[in-house]
Amino acid sequence: MINEYSFTKEKIMKDVILEQFGVSRRDAIKQLGALGLLTTTSASTQIEASVSSKANNAKIVIVGGGAGGICVAARLCRAIKNPNITIIEPNDKHIYQAGQTLVGGGIKKASQLVVDEESLIPSKAKWIQQSVKNLDPDIQKIELNNGEIVEYDYLVLSPGMQYDWGKIEGLAKDDIGKDGIHSIYTLEGSTKTWAMIQEFAKTGGNAYFSHPSTPIKCGGAPKKIMYLTDAYLRRQKARDKAVLTFCPASKSMFTVPEFDKAIYEQFHARDMKYNMGHDLVKVDKYKKEATFAYEVQRQGEWDDLLEEYEIIKEIEYITQPYDFLHVTPPMSAPDFLKSSKVIYNQGSSADLKMINADKYTLQHQSYKNIFALGDALGTPFCKTGGSVRKQAPVLVQNLLDVIDGKEPIAKFDGYTVCPIITGYGTVMLAEFDYTGRPTPIVPLDPTQERWIWWMLKVYMLEPIYFYGMMRGIM
Ligand SMILES: Cc1cc2nc3c(=O)[nH]c(=O)nc-3n(C[C@H](O)[C@H](O)[C@H](O)COP(=O)(O)OP(=O)(O)OC[C@H]3O[C@@H](n4cnc5c(N)ncnc54)[C@H](O)[C@@H]3O)c2cc1C
Repeated sequence: MINEYSFTKEKIMKDVILEQFGVSRRDAIKQLGALGLLTTTSASTQIEASVSSKANNAKIVIVGGGAGGICVAARLCRAIKNPNITIIEPNDKHIYQAGQTLVGGGIKKASQLVVDEESLIPSKAKWIQQSVKNLDPDIQKIELNNGEIVEYDYLVLSPGMQYDWGKIEGLAKDDIGKDGIHSIYTLEGSTKTWAMIQEFAKTGGNAYFSHPSTPIKCGGAPKKIMYLTDAYLRRQKARDKAVLTFCPASKSMFTVPEFDKAIYEQFHARDMKYNMGHDLVKVDKYKKEATFAYEVQRQGEWDDLLEEYEIIKEIEYITQPYDFLHVTPPMSAPDFLKSSKVIYNQGSSADLKMINADKYTLQHQSYKNIFALGDALGTPFCKTGGSVRKQAPVLVQNLLDVIDGKEPIAKFDGYTVCPIITGYGTVMLAEFDYTGRPTPIVPLDPTQERWIWWMLKVYMLEPIYFYGMMRGIM
């Protein structure tokens, strides 16, 4: 392990840590003050709802016992005196997914991220350990995998996204963790990624890091694991043996221009290469070759009417040999949603196939007794646990108001947070909202890589998640 990571004041202030990351004690004290401000501000996500007795009689069903589902269940159980809440969640283990990048970089162990689902289910809620197979919002009924039917008055959807490994030709989930193909997007995969990075430091070679064209959980994660690979190779004095190339399907590094520019600069400073607009479409695990699709534009015929040449767009393919391939799988809404009436049903783009809820109130556009949050929500970004933390109090207030016959007026502003780990000891905290501009919660230049955000990411976010968010108090 690179370091020992459990949060105590002594550890943060220990000179050995400060020296390791090149931070003076004076700067550390200043930055920790900012961190205090951040966590205090975080607590203000609490929205006080006035709860009428109608909520006691309402049957509320929550689909998904992940970050969003548990966060909402905990808040509802606090707000309603005698709640009638059922959580439908198939897994008996709950994973703190944001920690998987840290496992991939050798900073945490996988076991530190896993707790029994039962320990997070609020005592006043009922848990059905099944998957939803079908949802019919017209008759307010859910069919489970075991054939059981569950009825609801109000429904909260937070089933996350599914990984579509098979959309990459030649690749199946079972290939992850073998023969140089790795991914931090599964817990087991993140442990194996760390083993691979250590091995790669001995052998060197070509490493590719993919980012698909679909919306993904935590848009920064594919880059974070690349930065950590770079940093580890440097520590081992093996960086010159390796070529690291980022291959995103999109043509930009980040949706927010300020962070986009900063990331390009960080890549150049580290000699990290990139092939923009390159979508991983095929893997030949036997030959260890990855094929990427990319668009080219050619000059066509002269158009007399428009007085310009026609532009012809074509897709071409390039196949590259790899020693280490980090795959971020294409993602989509879970299948039961795809076959239901609660998703947007227009266009072909994957973000148009997510839950059709109002992006501010989180209430479904057509079914007013349905609310949604988390990764399955049809918003362009907001696929982070940090967004869920801000969505949950808005959703709970609006749901309680609707039960009480009022209009939902609380609004989610699109807050998204992505702590981009740029090395061991540095993080650029990318925070933004629906305006598409940086929205730093503390008054520090958000494009700077800072030790303080490393402390937040590595030491504080996990306790905030388990002891704050999952208990409905933060
Ligand atoms: C590698 C990685 C790195 C990340 N890094 C960060 C980060 O640094 N910061 C950050 O804020 N966020 C990060 N995230 C994102 C964060 O974990 C998610 O945004 C968050 O978990 C979304 O919550 P959710 O409730 O929508 O989905 P989830 O937490 O995934 O929960 C969905 C739940 O629904 C259940 N479910 C699925 N289908 C069904 C069904 N048919 N019936 C019933 N239940 C079902 C699942 O079992 C699951 O428990 C990261 C995620 C990953 C994978």
